[in-house]
Amino acid sequence: QHAETWKHLNKHLPEWLEESKKYTEDGNVAAYIPELASAPKDVLGICIMDAAGNTAKSGDHEYRFTLQSISKVFTLILALIDRGEEVVFSKVGMEPTGDDFNSMLKLELVEPGIPFNPLINAGAIAISSLIAGSSPDEQTNRILHFFREVADNGTLDINQDVHKSESDTAHRNRSLAYFLKDNGVLHHDVEDVLEVYFSHCSVEVGCADLARMALVLAHNGFDPIRNQRLIPRRFVQIAKTFMFTCGMYNASGEFAMNVGLPAKSGVSGGILTMVPGRYGIGVVGPALNNKGNSTAGVHLLGKLSQEFDWSLF
Ligand code: GLN
Repeated sequence: QHAETWKHLNKHLPEWLEESKKYTEDGNVAAYIPELASAPKDVLGICIMDAAGNTAKSGDHEYRFTLQSISKVFTLILALIDRGEEVVFSKVGMEPTGDDFNSMLKLELVEPGIPFNPLINAGAIAISSLIAGSSPDEQTNRILHFFREVADNGTLDINQDVHKSESDTAHRNRSLAYFLKDNGVLHHDVEDVLEVYFSHCSVEVGCADLARMALVLAHNGFDPIRNQRLIPRRFVQIAKTFMFTCGMYNASGEFAMNVGLPAKSGVSGGILTMVPGRYGIGVVGPALNNKGNSTAGVHLLGKLSQEFDWSLF
């Protein structure tokens, strides 16, 4: 059955991608981080990886982009590894917000003033502060090492231009962080925590890296290619649950309805998703809809999900 699906997928992927490509015109690239504003609007690429490491690729799959919010899934997992569930969930909640990713609304509403979940910016900033290490450099290195391990790619690195651009203009994230500090959620210096946060958002990848990372999540933390457990199953379960309920920001419900898979998007246009037990998937399309998700990427995933009946429901 896998062979049949795989054949069908490889045969039709280019035409489905082409059809989705016109949706890039409906979106806009993120401009609030100046360095992201120069991204080409008409890019669309995808890489799907099976458990043996075979890939189906199409379009601009070699295009390079930064992880942005996709990184939050993996810093959450690393914080769980470093601190355990109890500590992590004393700093962030478990509920979707239905607000924009950088929203300041509702920060006060969860007792005792903690962010609703680890995938909105406020929550992810709280998570950055939990990564083991005695300096921002040590924490960043630990994160980078973990990303490289999961992606099975030792060359992953920080895009310094994006990092600087984000840091220079992050007034809103700074205000979120100061708010968290005031609420007693952050114990480190605010600028130190933000340095770690900007660094993990600025790690540069391609679609194949996303697919490879997603493959490990699709197999519950076990890497089927290297035959090795990388992440405890429970932590992947937590991460995937958040991806499903909060991964596409305030369009998570719509994505759940139309695609039905756990996913995480970033403002650079990347989407990491997976077919549990089977494939890891990486998509990129920098033109975003008004919810901050890749317009064409979401469309392409909807098409694939429909075609192969991938929805979990
Ligand atoms: N680094 C971005 C920010 O903090 C991540 C947001 C995103 O990808 N949605 O604004």
